[in-house]
Amino acid sequence: MAQLVQQYLDRILAEHAGVSDGVLADYIPELAGVDPEGFALSLSSADGHVYETGSTAVEFTIQSISKPFTYALALDSLGQAAVDARIGVEPSGEAFNEISVDKTSKTPKNPMINAGAIAAASLVPGATADERFDALHDFYSGFAGRRLELDHDVYASEKATGNRNRAIAYMLASFGVLEGDPDEALDVYFRQCSLKVTSTDLARMAVTLARGGVNPATGRRVTNAAVVKRTLSVMVTCGMYDAAGDWVSAVGMPAKSGVGGGIVAVLPGQLGIGTYSPRLDAKGNSVRGVRVCRSLSEQLGLHFLSVARDSRATLRAVYEPRDNVRVYETHGDLLFSGAELLVRTVDRDRGRFEVAILDVSRVDDIDDAARSMLSGMSAELRSQNKVGYLVDPDGIVIRTGSDFEQVRYLCVDDAVEAAEQALRRGFAG
Ligand code: GLU
Repeated sequence: MAQLVQQYLDRILAEHAGVSDGVLADYIPELAGVDPEGFALSLSSADGHVYETGSTAVEFTIQSISKPFTYALALDSLGQAAVDARIGVEPSGEAFNEISVDKTSKTPKNPMINAGAIAAASLVPGATADERFDALHDFYSGFAGRRLELDHDVYASEKATGNRNRAIAYMLASFGVLEGDPDEALDVYFRQCSLKVTSTDLARMAVTLARGGVNPATGRRVTNAAVVKRTLSVMVTCGMYDAAGDWVSAVGMPAKSGVGGGIVAVLPGQLGIGTYSPRLDAKGNSVRGVRVCRSLSEQLGLHFLSVARDSRATLRAVYEPRDNVRVYETHGDLLFSGAELLVRTVDRDRGRFEVAILDVSRVDDIDDAARSMLSGMSAELRSQNKVGYLVDPDGIVIRTGSDFEQVRYLCVDDAVEAAEQALRRGFAG
């Protein structure tokens, strides 16, 4: 039954697999040498369950997706006031590698452009570049829930070809934004861009942000909620190069992309997404990655401005009024991630009941994605010789033709009674 979500993701990936628009980044030879067909999508639920589809084993360099995480570490280590004194939070409207600072403050406009990212790397505490990189490396790995590795070739290339970034670092030093040796800050920055991730690492990093800094897979708190709030805010306004406006209106999730072909997207409180496809559009964002995120958002109702409530509130209680009968009581808004949790919980329990009673009488709102998952769940139960009853007094799930149509009850007692009779007759499916 958990394959319902899997099937959604497989289908969304397949819908865009044929798209071949865009070009590989070629400012360093390593990026131009990757397989252009690599295509992966990973999604982590708020409790750390990961779904993945496509080439999720392919590792690629994190590149600019590192920027929000370094910014978060700077905030975490120095506090917001000290970081704000060096790096702004305004969209720049300029290219990501523009050699510029804010005219008045003489500080980088935001931490998602190279100037701000190099400044953030220089703020990470440590006596040497190695120490600072180690701190970053640990921090990112805490988000991913595994030790990330460095791509030494990409690092060497970034370093050999990074004159523009050198110009930025020396400009920042001249304005007093960078303390210490600019080459040391650059070295940390080149290494952070060269860490390797998979789409699944990105989904896990995203969900750790979605959970306010706790990695749900490891249970470890990596940073605090105030740092996450600030980081996500900057991702909303500045995360997608010069396409932030389009992205926010069409997809509606704080996100960051990188020229390595990755995108990380966060639905606060609910889920994290990682995508990979290395062909980029003119703005530097992964063509298929953007399309996949757009489809996910549209089809599963993930836009953050349309999400009213926290999905963790969805499952209110699970109990067993009789042997072989389990009641799943839901409340709040039943949207994609709540339905996902419900379907996965019912699936996990399937050896423990003959009849599952789903009580939606306290649900305020339900969307089409959740409705269709419940319908899929009902069909799936039947194929396992079990049955799903629905307690839906207001008819919010039931639509003509829905799989639940014949098994709708007005209250839990009626459903339990019907389940007892059915079990007594030896009927279970
Ligand atoms: N290492 C790259 C640079 O600084 C990052 C580019 C990116 O992903 O935007 O040019």
